[in-house]
Amino acid sequence: PTVVNRIAAGEIIHRPANALKELLENALDAGAQSIQILAKDGGLKQLQIQDSGHGIRLADLPLVCERFTTSKLQTFEDLSSIQTFGFRGEALASISHIAHVTITSRTAESNCAYRAKYADGQLVPAKPGTSTDPKPCAGNVGTQILVEDLFYNVPFRRKALKNINDEYNRILEVVSRYAIHNAGVSMSCKKIGTTATDIHTPVGASIVDIISQTHGGKIRSQLLKLECAHANLGFTAKGYVTNANFSTKKMQFLLFINHRLVDSSSLKKAIESVYTTVLPKGSHPFVYLSLSIDPQNVDVNVHPTKREVHFLHEDEITIAIAEALQSTLAGSSE
Ligand code: ADP
Ligand code: MG
Repeated sequence: PTVVNRIAAGEIIHRPANALKELLENALDAGAQSIQILAKDGGLKQLQIQDSGHGIRLADLPLVCERFTTSKLQTFEDLSSIQTFGFRGEALASISHIAHVTITSRTAESNCAYRAKYADGQLVPAKPGTSTDPKPCAGNVGTQILVEDLFYNVPFRRKALKNINDEYNRILEVVSRYAIHNAGVSMSCKKIGTTATDIHTPVGASIVDIISQTHGGKIRSQLLKLECAHANLGFTAKGYVTNANFSTKKMQFLLFINHRLVDSSSLKKAIESVYTTVLPKGSHPFVYLSLSIDPQNVDVNVHPTKREVHFLHEDEITIAIAEALQSTLAGSSE
């Protein structure tokens, strides 16, 4: 069964950035106001995330890496109205099958933190021959998760990841997307053993501040606010887009639906076709969109690796957003 679990885990987590996305969503689900990320060797040797969220109770620590263990879904009906990111209870379990995991966590009710180590979904001793019980230790309220030696037992995955700079850049991309969408949460990311912080969004930074930090200061004066809402179609969209003069190396399309980072190829195509009428050939826009749709109208992606979503009135909503984009861009060129 362990080998089967390991293969299944390798299907969900392909690279350090996938693991980080899951860990970041958990930190945000826990209400963290501040999140710090550290990586060594592109996150393959070490990936650590520290959050100031509500923490994990001592009694729950033995269970969190077991498959289908989640505190976020009480009944099947919850699935249609799910507001949090996680609902499958599979992320930590998967990661623990393909890496060494150490969790240190403290809740507000506890006067100390507890640390536990995991392998293959289960608690393991911190040192050989000692007990598997979580050990009390010093620590602030919140959770720190350390993932070490990712894919140590999946050689073909490990071998496929040759470029640690590339892996680190993918981590930065995930952090910057979540930082933009969660402007109220302070986030930082750096390589272990270096002094330079690659991303640091202070408390109180605006969305424009954060986009300027993660996508270069030049973007600031090119950003246009996009807003549209349609009561009949049951959605609101807010975001920032670059105007006709600004070009990035490739199109940056950051789409959040009900605060989940997702893909919608129909929306992406519609946005691209609006820009082809205004942007010179070969240049690419930056688009950040946050959509709110009645959760009952969103088809929650049932497979963990699929980010593509579909929603009710998809064609009409896509057209409405494309029209809003067109008039936003037209307004800016006058
Ligand atoms: P899911 O997010 O789908 O519930 P996960 O495997 O990602 O499943 O996490 C399992 C459980 O562990 C969560 O439901 C939550 O109770 C707990 N947990 C994980 N990460 C954190 C965190 N950073 N802070 C508080 N609780 C956490
Ligand atoms: Mg989760």
